[in-house]
Formats: sequence, structure tokens, C-alpha cells
Amino acid sequence: MPSCEMCGKETEDLFKARIEGTEMAVCRPCTKYGKVFSSIKQRDEKTKKFSLTQPKEEKPEETVIENFSQLIRKARENSGLIQEDFAKKINEKLSILQKMEAGLFLPSLDNAKKLERMLGLKLVVLSENKAAPQETAKSGELTLGDVIKIRKRN
Ligand SMILES: [Zn+2]
Repeated sequence: MPSCEMCGKETEDLFKARIEGTEMAVCRPCTKYGKVFSSIKQRDEKTKKFSLTQPKEEKPEETVIENFSQLIRKARENSGLIQEDFAKKINEKLSILQKMEAGLFLPSLDNAKKLERMLGLKLVVLSENKAAPQETAKSGELTLGDVIKIRKRN
């Protein structure tokens, strides 16, 4: 659904108008701010671009827990096994277990999940995508309507 570049309202009923010297796609009520030259029936390049800037729904990613090595070592200590026996129990090479306990080797997600099941530990966690916080993206984008409101306030 395209939205009005002035007030942000989502509507198919958009008009091309020149407002404060800028060509914009606006909804019917917002046409009063400028001079209308045509009605927009289909999304043009501008509205397509606009809809692409909408924040995407980010899925949280699965990741191996940060203190993985400590949890593995603790699990082994609790089991009372030496590294060699514990490695056999979890079906890993001794060298891999040693590296995991030392924090030098991070297992793959599948491997971590396998160990989760074997040891009854929580080793895989969901991480929020920190790259693009949606709140910031939303508040950082002003429509021309907002700008005009701010100008009027001053
Ligand atoms: Zn509007």
C-alpha cells in the first residue's frame, strides 16, 4: 500500500502535487498544501522506493551461547568424567572437546543443539538483530508533514 509523503497515511488514493517546490505523492486531504497536477493510480518509482524504506520484520537469529566453554566444562565436571571419557560420551574428538572447554572452538549450531539434548543444557540462544533497531529508524524518518509542523511550532 503506498502512503502519503506528507502525513504518512496509507492509501491507494494518491495525487501528484507540488508542495513547497517539491513534487510529492500525497493523499486527498494533503493536496490542500500544494498544487495538484495528476492523480496516481499505480505506484510510480517514488512510491515504490518509499515502501522499500519501511522497516523489515527481522527474525531473531539462533546463536551459540557466549559462555559455551564454561557450560561444557561444568557439565563435564558434574558428570565426574575426565575429558577423554566425556569426549566419547558426547561423541566428539578429545581435541575438539579440549578446544571447546578452552573457548578456542565454537561448535556449529547443529552441534550445539546435539550437545544441548545430550547434556540437558541451554547452549543455543536467540539473538536480537542489533544492526538496525526499528525504533531509531522510525523516529529518524520525518515526513514533510512533520517538518511543516516543526516549522510552524518555531
Ligand atoms: Zn496525507
